[in-house]
Amino acid sequence: MPIADYFSPDYPNARERFRAAAERAGARLNRYLLPERLGPQGESLSIDVARLGPDNATDALVVLSGTHGVEGFGGAGCQVGFLIDRLYEALPSSGCALLVHAVNPHGFAWLRRVNEDNVDLNRNFIDFSQPPSSAAYESLHDWLVPTDWEGAARASADAALQQHIAEHGMRAFQQALTAGQYTRPEGLFYGGTARTWSAQTLGQLLREQLPDGVRRVAVLDLHTGLGPTAYGEPILIPCARGDLARARAWFGCEVRSLVAEESANITGEKAVAAELEGTLARGFQEALPKTEITFIGLEFGTRQVTDVLTALRADHWVHARAPRDAVRSAAAQRLMRAAFYCETPAWQAAVYGRTADFVFRTCRALAQPA
Ligand SMILES: [Zn+2]
Repeated sequence: MPIADYFSPDYPNARERFRAAAERAGARLNRYLLPERLGPQGESLSIDVARLGPDNATDALVVLSGTHGVEGFGGAGCQVGFLIDRLYEALPSSGCALLVHAVNPHGFAWLRRVNEDNVDLNRNFIDFSQPPSSAAYESLHDWLVPTDWEGAARASADAALQQHIAEHGMRAFQQALTAGQYTRPEGLFYGGTARTWSAQTLGQLLREQLPDGVRRVAVLDLHTGLGPTAYGEPILIPCARGDLARARAWFGCEVRSLVAEESANITGEKAVAAELEGTLARGFQEALPKTEITFIGLEFGTRQVTDVLTALRADHWVHARAPRDAVRSAAAQRLMRAAFYCETPAWQAAVYGRTADFVFRTCRALAQPA
């Protein structure tokens, strides 16, 4: 089967392909249904999980797709390849694999990065009694989501953003934009007011699906839209001291840490992605408090950062200002799909090959004694 056939044109097809490949591989399948919501074709929406390996496994490889909804095109294709090419056979006898398909199924189906509540799941795992400051984002919000998408309002908003970037630099702009905000429910990178259905369900499924005696969990969380095209930048989200050294021993020195200080100590470089709180890694820590967790986000680049930002702004603008405008909604969806998924055999093969490489390195590491 060509690698392009591991990838699917939409959420229902991706789900179907995932379940069929899991069944053929003899995996144990489970479904966690999102209540009261449907996809654009009237389909029900769910997180689907496939478990392979012994019930008494002490080590686990977890592969996540669709944490950011629309980014699931790439990740789900890699999960299907994992099953069809039987990459799980590289696991040691102590290891099991857990594939989590569409952590944010609503976003995947509706071509949004955020979930059914406009929440970015990777900003949602915070302590809501003490949310981080949203001041930096507040200074940008009215320009990011202008009163109109065309005409003078849009032109002046774009000019203001350009001016801001010229004054503060692209890195500071990206940090302010993507660090997560808790004050604008219709805005970008919104972290919500409580744990979402996906966040709660992730904790539940980890407790239910992973063996009780699991001591080491390696997570590959597959993302798209950031960094060089198809490269697959490995970003460690540290859960405990020593995680970065271990991740570099497993995957090589190109692993960057989400926490700048820790990264700078070793390489002298700053972390690649903006520092942020509330990531899924915290959900893993909470669900598995006694387990050693090595949490890697693999970021596969797609388009220019300006194209990705324009798509995100269009998507949020439509939902905030014109949710019933079918023409503009469809236009925003087209921008989003193109910004987060490159539907070419070359991109798909590169993304899948890189993911398979990280699977094999993980299996090799888990074959070593803890
Ligand atoms: Zn992402």
